[in-house]
Amino acid sequence: MEQIRNYINGELVSPASNQHIDNYNPATGEAYSRTPDSDEHDVQVAVAAAQQAFPTWSRTPAAERSRILLRIAELIDQRHEQLALAECIDTGKPLALAKSVDIPRASSNFRFFATAIVHFASEAHPMEDSAINYTLRQPIGVAGCISPWNLPLYLFTWKIAPALAAGNCVVGKPSELTPMTAFRLAEICREAGLPPGVLNIVHGYGPKAGAAITAHPGVAAISFTGGTQTGAEIAQITAPKFKKLSLELGGKNPTIIFADCNYNEMLQTTLRSSYSNQGQICFCGSRIFVARPLYHQFKDDFVAATKRLQVGDPLLEETHLGAVISQSHLKKILSYVALAKEEGGTILCGGGQHIAGGRCKSGWFMEPAVIENLPPQCRTNQEEIFGPVVTIMPFETEDEVLRHANGTAYGLAAMVWTQDLTRAHRLANQLQSGIIWINCWMLRDLRTPFGGMKNSGLGREGGWEALRFFTEPKNVCVKL
Ligand code: NAD
Repeated sequence: MEQIRNYINGELVSPASNQHIDNYNPATGEAYSRTPDSDEHDVQVAVAAAQQAFPTWSRTPAAERSRILLRIAELIDQRHEQLALAECIDTGKPLALAKSVDIPRASSNFRFFATAIVHFASEAHPMEDSAINYTLRQPIGVAGCISPWNLPLYLFTWKIAPALAAGNCVVGKPSELTPMTAFRLAEICREAGLPPGVLNIVHGYGPKAGAAITAHPGVAAISFTGGTQTGAEIAQITAPKFKKLSLELGGKNPTIIFADCNYNEMLQTTLRSSYSNQGQICFCGSRIFVARPLYHQFKDDFVAATKRLQVGDPLLEETHLGAVISQSHLKKILSYVALAKEEGGTILCGGGQHIAGGRCKSGWFMEPAVIENLPPQCRTNQEEIFGPVVTIMPFETEDEVLRHANGTAYGLAAMVWTQDLTRAHRLANQLQSGIIWINCWMLRDLRTPFGGMKNSGLGREGGWEALRFFTEPKNVCVKL
């Protein structure tokens, strides 16, 4: 079995303890590689390497940092096929999705921030004839970047690219469930000529390796994407240490469908926004509200389309849904279907484990589920399931649907389908979500603020927001 290694000070190394974690292929249920089970000792060495690299990297001209990051982007593109296959095996997601979304977006992240940093400027505040203020935006030092398993390379690079572009050094930790593409990225960074210690990747469990990063006094900023509960734990550790903190957390996103929408486009996109990556995208819509006059037509068409989706071997081109990430996650999703029944829900289709054939006979697959007859306040409609399970609910008025859409602890994304643009803007103004998609989903411009409100997070990533997060503003006041 391939042994994944940490990337510390430019070298690929085993963890100090020499302990490893079995890494599974969710589509076969078999362990196929081994991940370092790193601990605070490894984090200590990684932070020391990053601290040592920081003075030189932070003073390296932005154009030179940009050149190296662009080289990393090129190498990701050159290894597109290899990386997409690695992502597919590690996550269970369809190979076609890894090819069209995960890997292209990883190289886009590097390209975007490599070019952004050479245009990054800051402000001056002249006080007529008495003084002039200018703001220096300086790199913070060592940043900790911790990412989840659902979009492994995509979300890992979304953090480390702006951190490095801004002149910080990084200690990163990908999810222990999906370490492979971060390991390949380490090889790419070596080849691209990234100086040793600038990026360090420590693999391992969250409460062990991840917690050691968040607690380390030498790590000045933490950028975290993952579950809301984990985010709360990290905030408790970092707040008294006054670290900069960016949290991208869970969601329970509403899809709001009005009767005047472009029906076919809505139906196709809502299928994607419900089940892409087996419903394991933080932006997936899991509560679908449909205007009463359209409800029965939508229900019939959506259930029929859901039934037509192919679940199975992620390597096959015809597969729409691959495996979910782990056996325990599958059990969690199934337990929510059981809860939905207890709460009085009607399962219109799916909801059970899917037994795939051939090499995938022991994989962790799930039949996508559509559930109706549940009130908006029940647990199924309030808690993040993070799987291919959606509820559908009719609504009568705009006020009512707005109240229900906003009626959860989360506030990540909301989708609105209508041809009435006045109504769309009115709703966008009142929806409590960090991101609103009107007549679309996952249409992403990397310059826009990315993140959620309420229990979905703290701060924003993307564009200048990310470069501002990864720099410390310092005002200089000069008396004239
Ligand atoms: P998770 O919180 O279990 O783990 C995320 C990362 O944090 C992993 O690398 C994990 O090892 C690490 N970690 C766990 N405990 C830690 C601790 N105590 N200290 C430091 N690090 C720790 O989340 P997950 O199950 O990997 O990901 C799924 C969740 O991520 C879902 O809730 C989903 O909505 C959310 N998510 C949010 C966004 C967003 O942009 N808002 C994007 C993707 C996923």
